[in-house]
Amino acid sequence: MARYTSADCRLCRREKCKLFLKGDRCYSEKCALTKRNKIPGQHADGRKKITEYGLQLREKQKTKRIYGLQEKQFHKYYEEAERMSGMTGATMLILLEQRLDNVVYRMGIGVSRSQARQFVNHGLITVNGKRVTIPAYQVKVGDVIGIKEKKANQVLFQELKQAKKPGNLPKWLEFVPSELQGKVIAAPTREDIDMNIQEHMIVELYSK
Ligand code: SF4
Repeated sequence: MARYTSADCRLCRREKCKLFLKGDRCYSEKCALTKRNKIPGQHADGRKKITEYGLQLREKQKTKRIYGLQEKQFHKYYEEAERMSGMTGATMLILLEQRLDNVVYRMGIGVSRSQARQFVNHGLITVNGKRVTIPAYQVKVGDVIGIKEKKANQVLFQELKQAKKPGNLPKWLEFVPSELQGKVIAAPTREDIDMNIQEHMIVELYSK
């Protein structure tokens, strides 16, 4: 199925919250949500009161869009989490966080999850010294994430090398800009996922 390629900012406006899809722009005054916090569409204002089902659907759509996944891919995480022990919703979020593209983004190698995914797809990212081109790859504790040696000289990565340690680096990850390398130092917990997601609503929706 084709990836959603329409204006990312419309998705934030639709979900009425920042999904952080456009890198630095999301933190600036240029953010479309700051400038125009209104649901897109001609009849947006005339929409009826949202039902419980509608709220659950929006929560699912929001989460799916944050991680940039299609419905089928996203649902697979729910199914996998359901088979595992623990709370399904929290487990699902942890599985999503452990995706390689998300980790590359969290480490600050990519400015957005979509850029991080591109880096992975284009073979720029290594795990334990080996190139991994699967964005959905699940990282494990001890994995060392790096940039392919030949690509590390690209201007983009040289700038990253000079940058400070990302301020919002979650505590389960480590990243050393000067070495263009990071490590998974612990498994993420639900508390480490700082986004406003009510995962129980997604579980309620899928378990209907
Ligand atoms: Fe969303 Fe970023 Fe666009 Fe703001 S700039 S609306 S956070 S994608």
